[in-house]
Amino acid sequence: MCYAIPGKVISLDAKLVYLDYFGKTRKAANPGRILLSIGEYVYAQGGIIVDTIRKEEAEQILKFWKRRFTELKKKDRDLTKNLWKEKQTNRISRKEIINFLSFEKKEEITNICKMANKLRLKNISNASCVHGIIEFSNYCINDCAYCGIRKSNAKIYRYRMTIEEISSLAEYAVKKLNFRALVLQSGEDFYYSDDDLLSLVRSIRDKCGVLLFMSIGERSFECYKKLFNAGAYGALIRFETSNEFLYSKLRPGKKFSDRINLIKKLKEFGFVVATGFLIGLPDQTIENIANDILLMRSLKPDMVSFGPLIPHPETPLASVKKISPEELLKTIATIRIAIPQSHIAVTTAMETIIENGKRHCLMAGANSIMISLTPSEYKNKYELYPNKFGDNLSTKENIVQSLKLLYELGRAPTDLVS
Ligand code: SAH
Ligand code: SF4
Repeated sequence: MCYAIPGKVISLDAKLVYLDYFGKTRKAANPGRILLSIGEYVYAQGGIIVDTIRKEEAEQILKFWKRRFTELKKKDRDLTKNLWKEKQTNRISRKEIINFLSFEKKEEITNICKMANKLRLKNISNASCVHGIIEFSNYCINDCAYCGIRKSNAKIYRYRMTIEEISSLAEYAVKKLNFRALVLQSGEDFYYSDDDLLSLVRSIRDKCGVLLFMSIGERSFECYKKLFNAGAYGALIRFETSNEFLYSKLRPGKKFSDRINLIKKLKEFGFVVATGFLIGLPDQTIENIANDILLMRSLKPDMVSFGPLIPHPETPLASVKKISPEELLKTIATIRIAIPQSHIAVTTAMETIIENGKRHCLMAGANSIMISLTPSEYKNKYELYPNKFGDNLSTKENIVQSLKLLYELGRAPTDLVS
């Protein structure tokens, strides 16, 4: 988001565009083949150019942000000053990961969170991308044991938004609310044909420049390729767990290898990939979580999206014990330490199990946030788990509170490192 910073095109080659941001050069891809010339200003998200912007407008925004960045960075530095001595290691081992995940003392957990926050500052500075999420259908053909919208749950009210509804909401989010990265999420719902999804992506692309992440589960790779070519350059698809046995138990009829191969192919093809796993699954061990982190590291995701299982009463996992806030925070911190340059999202499930979740997670090594844009009449029906954070908050309230928090913590609502 929310406030992508305009970059000035300083050079171009056949593959990449080189952009200037306050004197620093960054590379971006231009899969949409937007016509560009040197000196022009563009918006890039996740390393992909999504739109152009008029020079006068861009210069005004840059003037505002130059001052703001300096102020925010100072605040962020002050908040991370005098922290526990940071360990200078880039690729911690499985043993070290297990060691961090085994911490139980309050002081140990507080310390790794501080260390993770310091690593976050050092590696990705105060960039805190804000993504909007539109949950457009809660129909699903699958029966994942953890999920409240699984097909066997006959007790929920099902809804689907029309292509026009989704497209208009996306346009509103970009043009009126300033989002520059949106996630379109649903159950695996084949009511929408591949062509329907293509026309959705095209209609959004024709109206506004935004990095679209599709979070629609397992469609064919062919379908994903067409969506990319139509303008959806991002995919949010978790592998859920690296333990194949657990995977097949929790996702009946689904194969771990299909999911992981799809994720790998998407990454290889050029998608901006967000992936991750669930913690707090039944029979999941600390070793399993360490393997999840290692698998994630090997996938080189552009964004880490993981979260705690929140048991839903109408699922086979109804009686599983919810993990504690400390367990969640130490996992965030461990991921930051294991993958220092990663972008770690504060997911809605995290906010649901921790009071003031955004703040705590951002101070434990996370850096991106997610804001639900789902219309209020559907929000509480997209019930992956009960009492979802934000269901009783209007989109505007959520944005105002989130930006206030980011500024308080010295974070800049952009995916750029200042
Ligand atoms: N159907 C798609 C996208 C929607 S589900 C898919 O499965 O990929 C998005 C994510 O919600 C899943 O990846 C899963 O990790 C998470 N989820 C589902 N049920 C949950 C629960 N009870 N608690 C926490 N997260 C859950
Ligand atoms: Fe469907 Fe996704 Fe829920 Fe599984 S997690 S039941 S695929 S919505």
